[in-house]
Amino acid sequence: MIRRIKGTMDIMPEDTPLFRHIEGIMREEAERYGFGEIRTPMFENTELFVRGVGDTTDVVQKEMYTFVDRDEDKSISLRPEGTASVARAIIENGRCSDTMPMKFYYIISCFRHEKPQAGRSREFFQFGTEMFGTESPTADATVIALAYSVLCRLGLDNVKLHINSIGCKQCRPGYRDALISHFSAKEECLCDTCKARLSKNPLRLLDCKNPECHELALSAPKTVEHLCPDCEKKFTILKESLDAMHIPYEVDTSIVRGLDYYTNTVFEFIAEGIGAQSTVCGGGRYDGLVESLGGPNLPGIGFGMGLTRVILAMKEKGLDTVEKKKPSLYIAALGERAQVVALGIVEELRRGGQYCECDIVGRSLKAQMKYADKIGADYTLILGDGELESQTAQLRSMKTGEQETVELSKIVEKMSNI
Ligand code: ATP
Ligand code: MG
Repeated sequence: MIRRIKGTMDIMPEDTPLFRHIEGIMREEAERYGFGEIRTPMFENTELFVRGVGDTTDVVQKEMYTFVDRDEDKSISLRPEGTASVARAIIENGRCSDTMPMKFYYIISCFRHEKPQAGRSREFFQFGTEMFGTESPTADATVIALAYSVLCRLGLDNVKLHINSIGCKQCRPGYRDALISHFSAKEECLCDTCKARLSKNPLRLLDCKNPECHELALSAPKTVEHLCPDCEKKFTILKESLDAMHIPYEVDTSIVRGLDYYTNTVFEFIAEGIGAQSTVCGGGRYDGLVESLGGPNLPGIGFGMGLTRVILAMKEKGLDTVEKKKPSLYIAALGERAQVVALGIVEELRRGGQYCECDIVGRSLKAQMKYADKIGADYTLILGDGELESQTAQLRSMKTGEQETVELSKIVEKMSNI
């Protein structure tokens, strides 16, 4: 037997309604905030992610699914996230001079070779948004409000918002030096990856998962202590904007985010009670990204929300049940002739927009009634030789048990008026 790849999942029909319910709310909210859906390819030139996500990140160094294309000597990668592709798409489609801000959203699967565990898989689903063309912290607050609004509508109003500012190009050099001297003092305790990236990108050491590196990161200097006056002001306005929208938050100086291109605002929504992978949504500002991909200097802000983690958080609160769609009518048919007649009636009802079923297996009456019960049909109709003879049948309400005699030629009309 061939099994599915480790870290991937099959979502069976009983689970897809929950996904669709969640995705529906995500789409509705995104569109309410004026975001339009964008769809980009599932794979891209590896170089896009190396530049867009950053060659010193874990995602690029350890987690990407990369392969050489069959007919070209090209390195291709499955997308590990969505932002780099959206930035590429707006450059490639000549949208960088469109009216600002430009607002996009997507619901996609992403691929990362990580250790599978609760809330962490190798193919995972993400609701993402990206807003380009404004540096204002009120834009950051708007994007956060959208994520908050989605979580609230899903019933997850207990998910905590953590915010931080990691500064800009101006504040970075001073902070970098402070970090390098902090970590250099204990260089022998660092993992090999961190040793190698210490001088290249010391910010990455702050979210290394290795216990010793993590321990050292806890006592590292904080980004907020090294903000330039402009970043300081932006952070204040962000906090005031969240206050104005009554969105609760806490400043959490430990958040730096895993991707290289972030600047200024970074944020996470954290759910309690779902285990170690508790970040249901992470995002931030990436003002240097578009330019680093060959476009103009266009600021951006966005987030990624993991669907599986949202579901875990909903399960924790008992919010993961979605009402299953039930048929209005099930026709139990006894014999081949009755099956064909039933099919004709059911199909006409379906064309009229109803969800109906009839027997197409040839089971016993008892088994058919059991099936009707299982699928939760509102009404049933039994069709056998006698009914075909008299051209009438008993329409039974499964809720009340009431029965009424209906002419076969009037069933469609009758069901349409129920
Ligand atoms: P983490 O710290 O959990 O590794 P990250 O910083 O790598 O997350 P992002 O790249 O910002 O995550 O992705 C945004 C969101 O996507 C995360 O907050 C999370 O909800 C979800 N996510 C990321 N990686 C995975 C994964 N391997 N499996 C399931 N969901 C994931
Ligand atoms: Mg990660």
